[in-house]
Parts: sequence; C-alpha cells; structure tokens
Amino acid sequence: MSAENKSIHDFDFELICEYYARLERQGPGSPDVTLKALSFIEGLSAASRIADLGCGTGGQTLVLARNAPGQITGMDLFPTFIEQFNRNAQALQLQERVTGIVGSMDDLPFQEGALDVIWSEGAIYNIGFERGLNEWRRFLKPGGYLAVSEASWFTGERPAEINAFWQDAYPEIDTIANKVAQMQRAGYVPVATFVLPEDCWTRHFYEPQVAVQREFLEKHAGERAAEELVANQRHEAELYAQYKACYGYVFYIGRKL
Ligand code: SAH
Repeated sequence: MSAENKSIHDFDFELICEYYARLERQGPGSPDVTLKALSFIEGLSAASRIADLGCGTGGQTLVLARNAPGQITGMDLFPTFIEQFNRNAQALQLQERVTGIVGSMDDLPFQEGALDVIWSEGAIYNIGFERGLNEWRRFLKPGGYLAVSEASWFTGERPAEINAFWQDAYPEIDTIANKVAQMQRAGYVPVATFVLPEDCWTRHFYEPQVAVQREFLEKHAGERAAEELVANQRHEAELYAQYKACYGYVFYIGRKL
C-alpha cells in the first residue's frame, strides 16, 4: 500500500477516536437523509425496538429518536463514542428511550427475531455489506426493516486513481444495482434506495473537519501520526471533490421477507 493510499483503517484507534469524537457525525449523512430513510419504514409504535449499529456519537440516532417511537439502542465498538452518545441522549432528555452500549456488530447482543428495525449509517462496511445483511437478518422480526448507508459506485467505469483508492479502502464498494441484488439474495425486499446528496459529504462531513483539524494539529504539534491522519482526511476530501461523479453514499432500505 502506498503512503498516498493510506486509508483511515491504518491509523491508531485512539487517535481516530479523539479526532472523530470532536465531530457531530463520523460519516457522511444529514438529518434530512435520516428522515427520508425513515419515511420508508412503516408500522412503528411505542413497542418497537430499533438498533443503530456503529452509531458513533449518535448524530443520526438522536434524529431517529426524535422522529420515531419505540426503544432505540445505539451500539458502537468504541467506549469514547458511547460515552458521548449517552451524554447527548441525556442532554435531550431522551435517556428513557435511547441507550448507548459498547459492542461489536459481528456479535450482536440481541435476541433473534427481536428487532423491528436495524439502522446503520456509514458503518456496515466494518464487517462488509453482504456479511452484515446476512448476519443481522436473524435479529429482525419477520417484516422488520434494515436501513443502511453504504459507499457505492455510480458508474460502471472509473478513473484509475479513485478505483485504486477504494479497492484499498473498501473493496466491497460496488454499483447500486449489484448492492440491491445482494439485498434481494440475502432475503430482503428492496424497499428503496436513494443517493445521499452532496451536502452530506461537504457541509455535514468534510467542512466541520476543517476547524477540528486545526485544533487537533495544535494539540498534537510535531506528532507524525496526527499529521498523517489529518493529511489523510484532507486527501480524501480532495478525492471526493474531484471524483464525486463516480461514487457516493447510498441508502438501502430492505424488508425481511
Ligand atoms: N453512524 C455514525 C458513525 C459512522 S462511522 C455516523 O453516520 O455518523 C463508523 C462507526 O462504526 C464508528 O463509530 C466506528 O467506531 C464504528 N465501528 C467500527 N467497527 C465496529 C464494530 N465492529 N462494531 C460496532 N461499531 C463499529
């Protein structure tokens, strides 16, 4: 792997956590997009159980909680994010319905058939889209929904530079048509897919990082790993600006057959 093509996964976890904990969102998304995805989900009630996997500090979970009834469990691998998550839920007086727990999406702590909705924005890639679809299905009730956002190709062919970047960062990136077929094969009715608008990357993701990068570099002055992490994020933002016609995030909503 070339230095240029380093991906976020190659950095020290603590440093990554510290960087991302300063942001409201840890991946591309927006309140509007969360609400749009939620609009495809029918039949929720106060008795519903929703899990948000790879919730980070809970930007999207809290939007969900304010707009959907039921009990919501946010789960993330990193305790730093979950601590922040629970503080955020408390600040909004949502702690009765919203709980953050530390755990891994490859070992879910739920009972089989217990969930009405599995939500996951910009996080299923951690175990891979197909694996997540297949392994999480048994935790849903029949007729339960899966709603996930995932990096996807918009075009059949791409310039070599961006192709190489993604083959290294996440080789499972694929076209929307192929992802929908995977969803169908895994036993879901593909209810809806939509492309996240550009502002999910710019206004809601890369732009808030500019101030965070400045503070982060001040705090870690002279530390090579911190400098590389910031350089990596800046490089990613530049790639996005250059190649956004070829890829983006797509929401996939499916219903368990
Ligand atoms: N959903 C949030 C965060 C997306 S970033 C948002 O859209 O803003 C991806 C998240 O997945 C990070 O918070 C990371 O800590 C979490 N993560 C990575 N591996 C995980 C795993 N195995 N289980 C649970 N969460 C994981």
